[in-house]
Amino acid sequence: MVYDLIIIGGGPAGLSAAIYALRARLNIVLIEKMAVGGQIALADNIENYPGFPSLSGIELMQKFEEHAKGLGLNIIYDEIKDITDDGEYKTLIGVNESYQARTVIITVGASPKRLNIPGEREFTGRGVSYCATCDGPFFKDEDIAVIGGGDSALKEANYLTRIVKSVVLIHRRKEFRAEKIIQERLNNAKNITMELEHSPISINGNGTKTVESISIENVKTKERKTIPVKGVFIFIGIKPQTSFLKNIEKDQDGFIKTDHYTLMTSMPGVFCAGDAHSKKLLQVATAVGEGALAATSAEEFVCDTC
Ligand SMILES: Cc1cc2nc3c(=O)[nH]c(=O)nc-3n(C[C@H](O)[C@H](O)[C@H](O)COP(=O)(O)OP(=O)(O)OC[C@H]3O[C@@H](n4cnc5c(N)ncnc54)[C@H](O)[C@@H]3O)c2cc1C
Repeated sequence: MVYDLIIIGGGPAGLSAAIYALRARLNIVLIEKMAVGGQIALADNIENYPGFPSLSGIELMQKFEEHAKGLGLNIIYDEIKDITDDGEYKTLIGVNESYQARTVIITVGASPKRLNIPGEREFTGRGVSYCATCDGPFFKDEDIAVIGGGDSALKEANYLTRIVKSVVLIHRRKEFRAEKIIQERLNNAKNITMELEHSPISINGNGTKTVESISIENVKTKERKTIPVKGVFIFIGIKPQTSFLKNIEKDQDGFIKTDHYTLMTSMPGVFCAGDAHSKKLLQVATAVGEGALAATSAEEFVCDTC
């Protein structure tokens, strides 16, 4: 079977694209490798998606999924490993099987960046985490460290102050990049301390069983110190999940380049939306807008070429 459109990825961008494509009566399928919802399902609370002053990532994504399924969305659980351009249609090679479509929208999003310091890999899942909502409750009444200075780091640090004993926020710069409203909220928390202009250099523990401390270095003086903590939460940015896409043009960081007007990639009929797409602001609102635009462009491409 050749679909009109295959969407790869079931995060905000993919589900938004699906809603627009289904309303345009395209014959589509969405392919997701894990669970529908994407990264935002990890967020404890979202306060910047218009129309929803405060709700959890999971709640928001359930609404997206219900909306798309109400329009008849068919979801296949598989991981796409490659896309080839076979002229009239594209072939998507999945782990389980191959799929064919006239157009494709890539909405594969991103995954957390690693610090790549000693102890990080060894203690992942045993004290090192990239998701406060998932793992925060394991550190109730413990001292923990949060690494990062952007929106996600400060938002998640604020959430963690409500469930753990204390948070030390480690950031390599003097200033935070996070929205001012998020910074103001952190100032009200009593159980947080800051280690600004410090970089983490190792996560230390008892064998590989549990984390016991984090060692940090002053970025200017190079002076080092070790802080006792039981958990380390890392929010230092994301990297796009695009390494499997060999035949599509990307920027130096692996984000997919597109024509800004249609979101078409360097492969004709293949579009990209959301965090995998090279741009300044990676948020649900931008992912959703791009999903809508990519689906509309895909619909035009299908009509123009049939
Ligand atoms: C902790 C945290 C807090 C955040 N808080 C906010 C916030 O408050 N407000 C806000 O606007 N944004 C927030 N964000 C950012 C927001 O989550 C992202 O901008 C948004 O999820 C991007 O959506 P997306 O659909 O492009 O990608 P993603 O959400 O990353 O979804 C991509 C999907 O594609 C799937 N996939 C990947 N590769 C493949 C493959 N090869 N085959 C099949 N499926 C694949 C993945 O499993 C995933 O489900 C937060 C992010 C994090 C991590």
